[in-house]
Amino acid sequence: MTFTDLGLAEPILRALTEEGYTEPTPIQASAIPVVVSGRDLIGIAQTGTGKTAAFALPILNRLAASEGRPAPKSCRVLVLSPTRELSAQILESFRTYGRHLKRSATLAIGGVPMGKQVRALAGGVDILVATPGRLMDLLKNRAVTLDWVEVLVLDEADRMLDMGFIADIRKIVARLPKDRQTLFFSATMPPEIAALAGEMLSNPARVSVTPPASTVDRIAQRAIHVGRAGKPGLLAEVLGEAGVERAIVFTRTKHGADRVVRGLDAAGISADAIHGNKSQGQRERALAGFRSGKVRTLVATDIAARGIDVDGISHVINYDLPNLPESYVHRIGRTARAGKDGVAISFCSPDEVPFLRAIERAIRLQIPATASDGSAAPVAAAPIPTDAERPERREGRRRRRNGGEGRPGQGEPRQHRERQERQAEGRPGRDQPAQGRHGQERPPQGRPGGKRRPAHGNKQSQNRQGPTRHHGGDDIAAIGFLGKPRRQQGAAAV
Ligand code: AMP
Repeated sequence: MTFTDLGLAEPILRALTEEGYTEPTPIQASAIPVVVSGRDLIGIAQTGTGKTAAFALPILNRLAASEGRPAPKSCRVLVLSPTRELSAQILESFRTYGRHLKRSATLAIGGVPMGKQVRALAGGVDILVATPGRLMDLLKNRAVTLDWVEVLVLDEADRMLDMGFIADIRKIVARLPKDRQTLFFSATMPPEIAALAGEMLSNPARVSVTPPASTVDRIAQRAIHVGRAGKPGLLAEVLGEAGVERAIVFTRTKHGADRVVRGLDAAGISADAIHGNKSQGQRERALAGFRSGKVRTLVATDIAARGIDVDGISHVINYDLPNLPESYVHRIGRTARAGKDGVAISFCSPDEVPFLRAIERAIRLQIPATASDGSAAPVAAAPIPTDAERPERREGRRRRRNGGEGRPGQGEPRQHRERQERQAEGRPGRDQPAQGRHGQERPPQGRPGGKRRPAHGNKQSQNRQGPTRHHGGDDIAAIGFLGKPRRQQGAAAV
């Protein structure tokens, strides 16, 4: 199958050819026809499968086919993503694939002043890519209305749940027209996410790809048992091994990431850190340096690394093991992309052995382990217990879900840690959406200026164009192109 077979418009096909895309990935081949037909979609897919293009291409195709232009302070397409980095990458993808279309796109993420985003939205944009917290703030400030959204994309829904954004998502969805197309992407479908999808989608088609199996197959995984004190030396040693071209090192905390960078610096190895305490500018510079190959080692926390899409990462090193097996799968998925092989090495201190066992259980694989001196692993390859054999784990999970304490020995409860991460990143949490969000009346539901609200609950018009103005050439330039963000209205510098 080719992209031409999918019926995409010529300017999009041209951009794809320029990008060197010859054929659709499986998720693209299944999802694009569904989205083009106007149906709602549930896509079960992780980053690395080409899922961004699976929604971006048919959305651009829809925009290309319509002459309408967005009303002031509105957007026609809303993409919600959990992190700033992922949002920036999604915007970049829209710009890449839409470079020959005269459509505007902007970014609304935390960590940067809101004024530029408010200005970018003032004239209306075709595509708005946003993190939930910042979008809530913009709504509160009446900088944007969602009354004219034609397509909603919710990306990485399961991560939204992990990060405590589900309440915000529900509030945002309540402000969208019912007559819209909704595209819902998640790597996993825990019950909470399935329930959310049930609320948001209408008769959705379901497409699913299973990259973990194929991706994981190409990743050589191993674990090294090492005491905490031995980790810095071991890291320097591993990074010095032949074949380490570009490595991403994961730590559990932001301070841990900084410590690792300092340690590597002292060992004469240049590295950069990316985490929630870094400013947006620092994060972008670190990513740019890593992408260009100027810095070969990037040290990251899970949240900051979410959605990082850098080709040619040869090694993923888990300096600290994640306490959630899903995080392990997401981490190692940074390597072995685009058909290449990759290596994932996990440093496992004695207190982390339970995490290693939980990961092995989740991926149904025993990770070959050695001691840091290269000898056979001192921690015997104990049989992997099943969940059924560990009822206390399920009980613990239930307790935590109910707001109880975290897993023993984990340091801090997960919810607490996540709240701290959110606070550090200047993002609201599920317990404190404060920042004026409570106690404030919602903006009136009627259209500003007394205009009628769009008809809700009627799915007749898949190609509804809302209160769009028809544009002439000069106007288009003033609105901004995907390829060239509008200067004064700040259509998203990423
Ligand atoms: P994603 O899953 O959206 O994060 O995409 C992963 C990577 O695959 C990105 O670097 C894309 O540029 C690339 N990609 C997406 N679709 C294709 C395609 N059809 N052919 C080649 N590369 C692709």
